[in-house]
Amino acid sequence: MEDLPNGFLNYPKKRPGFESAGDEIRRHMSDAEFGKVQTDYVEAQKKALRDGWRVPEDDAASGELHLFSERRDVPRWGVDRKYRAQDVRSYMRIPGAGSEESGPVFDFAELDHIGETDRRWSWVEINLSAIQNNIMAIKGTLRPETMFMAVVKADGYGHGAVACAKTALNSGADYIGVATMDEAMELRQAGIEAPMLILSEPPLTSIPLLLGYNVMPSVATVEFAVKYAEAADSIGSKAPYHLKINTGMNRVGVRYDSVVDFLQTISFHRALDLVGTFTHFATADAQDTMDFNLQKSRFEDALAAMRASGFDPGIVHAANSAATIRYKDVQYDMVRPGLAMYGYFPCPETYGAVNLLPAMSVKARITQVNQVPVGEGVSYGLLHRCNGFAKICTVPIGYADGLNRALSGRIDFIMGGRTYPQVGNICMDQCMFEVDIRTRSGIGRIEPQVGDEVIVLGEDGDAFTTIDQMADMLGTIPYEVMIAFGNSRMPKLYV
Ligand SMILES: *Cc1c(COP(=O)(O)O)cnc(C)c1O
Repeated sequence: MEDLPNGFLNYPKKRPGFESAGDEIRRHMSDAEFGKVQTDYVEAQKKALRDGWRVPEDDAASGELHLFSERRDVPRWGVDRKYRAQDVRSYMRIPGAGSEESGPVFDFAELDHIGETDRRWSWVEINLSAIQNNIMAIKGTLRPETMFMAVVKADGYGHGAVACAKTALNSGADYIGVATMDEAMELRQAGIEAPMLILSEPPLTSIPLLLGYNVMPSVATVEFAVKYAEAADSIGSKAPYHLKINTGMNRVGVRYDSVVDFLQTISFHRALDLVGTFTHFATADAQDTMDFNLQKSRFEDALAAMRASGFDPGIVHAANSAATIRYKDVQYDMVRPGLAMYGYFPCPETYGAVNLLPAMSVKARITQVNQVPVGEGVSYGLLHRCNGFAKICTVPIGYADGLNRALSGRIDFIMGGRTYPQVGNICMDQCMFEVDIRTRSGIGRIEPQVGDEVIVLGEDGDAFTTIDQMADMLGTIPYEVMIAFGNSRMPKLYV
């Protein structure tokens, strides 16, 4: 951050060419120029009055430097009637009833009809047909017999695990992959019956749940394998599992060169049922392919050793999204795409290789519109300064909703098919953006209204903001950005 001669702070911006309306004032202003802008402003206000613009009485009375705010013939995006307050009496058990002692009696079933997006004006929209499109598009690149495991861990990467798993199964997925016992239980409780795998070994204490909910663990330790088998055996059932092989990522799994030893150690147990064998690539999304190929050959060596020793590996699988899209030769019997299912490309090498549609967008409605006088600041720290020709619009979405504070002043919001710079620090629950209200040729005058819908993430016509842009600015990967929005307190709307 850089101090400018006039004492204003230059807000850090990463995106080249990014200019908010307030940049003008911050860029040039010496004291003399500051004075001139003020005079210009007063002149502009006088001219506006002559032209028939109305100056709010408050402003006229206080003499504050507010810009003209309303003109009847200006087209507006009207506020839908829905976004006005409802008659409270329609939520009473008997309208108008209630005694002195009891007070008014509310009908809580009726109150429930005030949906989450009417309680707070920000939400995450999930387009399930995009997910369906993505799964079918990915499946189109596979051999017909290759199975598809829909990875719906972390609540479906923030898209809602139950809805995504159902959509995936309806779109031809065969298997469901999750990260935790709880995630598996949620899906089973929602009535999802497809084969389900926890992608790493859960704790020993979860074994009764695995058997009770018919969920397969990944197995990588002797202790777990034996305890799991004993538990299953004690109730006369099988202990189905997938063997996880560590071929170089060094996270979890049996090391590739000791797989046969491992299986020989546990194979005395009759209940154990090896349903599948898999590994996970550390660099499927990397430009360099050497480490990927090393993992692949280690995996194939381990499979060959298993077969040579009489162990049938069952369903063989390895490919995450990047590997599924980039490397046809690691499809094996099943692929495990997560990210691509939700419509995002894991790395530049995959761009355009399949027709993926992003399923998530984030929207909000304007809760307040402020005409801010020239030179005044916005949000904590007042780091953004207004030029007097802009309205500052507040939306109820902040870093507690997954809108990372490090994006402050670096992103655009979309309204009516046009982009507007987000300005000032993003707060916990709210943030602001700026609408330049000067009439420009071809654009006309923009009059933002309370209740107008704003796209925080998504697209409208030619205007778009993407998870990839945000991830780049934050120095992270798209996974983290979508999970921050999707697993925040914002409600999800399925469209
Ligand atoms: C998360 C995960 C996947 C899916 O990875 P994407 O990069 O999202 O496609 C596949 N396999 C395992 C073991 C995982 O943990």
